[in-house]
Amino acid sequence: MEAHKTICSAIDNFRETAVAISRSIHARPELKFEEHFAAEQLAKGATALGLKVETAIAGLATAFRAEFGRASGPTVAIFAEYDALPNGHSCGHNLIAGAALSAVAGLSSIGEQLPGRIVFMGTPAEEGGGGKILLLQRGALKGVDAALMAHPMDMEWSTMPALATRHLHITFRGRAAHAALAPWDGSSALAAVLQTFHAVDMARLHFRDGSRIHGIITNGGQAVNIIPERTECMFLARGKTSKYVEQMAARVIQCAEGAAMATGTKAEVKVVGGYKNMINNYSMARRYAAHSESLGVRAPEAPLDLPTGSTDMGDISHAMPAIHPTFAIAQHGEGSCHEDRFVAHADSSRGYDAMIRVAKSLAMTAYDLISDPGLMAAAKAEYAERQES
Ligand SMILES: [Zn+2]
Ligand SMILES: [Zn+2]
Repeated sequence: MEAHKTICSAIDNFRETAVAISRSIHARPELKFEEHFAAEQLAKGATALGLKVETAIAGLATAFRAEFGRASGPTVAIFAEYDALPNGHSCGHNLIAGAALSAVAGLSSIGEQLPGRIVFMGTPAEEGGGGKILLLQRGALKGVDAALMAHPMDMEWSTMPALATRHLHITFRGRAAHAALAPWDGSSALAAVLQTFHAVDMARLHFRDGSRIHGIITNGGQAVNIIPERTECMFLARGKTSKYVEQMAARVIQCAEGAAMATGTKAEVKVVGGYKNMINNYSMARRYAAHSESLGVRAPEAPLDLPTGSTDMGDISHAMPAIHPTFAIAQHGEGSCHEDRFVAHADSSRGYDAMIRVAKSLAMTAYDLISDPGLMAAAKAEYAERQES
């Protein structure tokens, strides 16, 4: 198709700029909600393409939005993530940003001929901050019919079965006492936190296949010679559906309350957020896979039992048809997301080659969604059907 060719050659022409921006973001990793440099570079890149960029949207300093095309057709959003982790860009979000901006460069080259609207959305804080959830709640995605993005990994998939999460913070309050002189006067918040981990491990057998629970102790006491009066821990419960993860979280809360009772302390539990599971839209994923294959790379559907993480794109997929394909920037087994060695993969020539290729698949899929009413109708029908189940 002529439009696909125009899009792909515009993306090829944009390569140098895209790699430079992605590399500059990689060199200056910023944690969730602090991605000022990254958001600025991407906004500048979009402005240079002739787009009008709104910055600091929805009350989020590091979110942005630009839209272009014809208002009369359907609207498709392409997401850029750009936050890093404490060990740098170990999730490769600089490549997500570069791929999204490149896709936008390709689509904007069609200009007014575009039979619908494209929204380029900068979504901060994927790593635990749920930026997309805030954008969704605050109306920044109003009028968007479908959304897409792609994430680097060590495997190429057109779908990703991300788990739903519940993030819990638990604080135990006991009573301080001299640990040798008068331990009988104290009640140990450390004993409570240890009991909680033990109880959660005992409960683990009873969770459904594919569930995950992992926790850390963030405060284990105040001094070795004082009975700990205050301890804190965090758990992340993950399950296949948002509904099921609620049950898992309830079980963790029971464990904490039981431990508090057993140790004469008090437990205070806060649910500090969570992501929904990813509902992969197969109508969109199959079109994406076909484009990927036309570029020489197979992107099959991921097996449903693939070990996986979680993403705030899950919440988006509960609000509209959405895809979150993954693209390989390393050999399988040579380092994947969140590992130190993935930081180097995210700044490699293989990574940038994949970023440009994936930008083309994303852009062609977005173009098809706004130009082919049958594809958008199929994506929407599938979304409606799977929401009910
Ligand atoms: Zn990550
Ligand atoms: Zn990530």
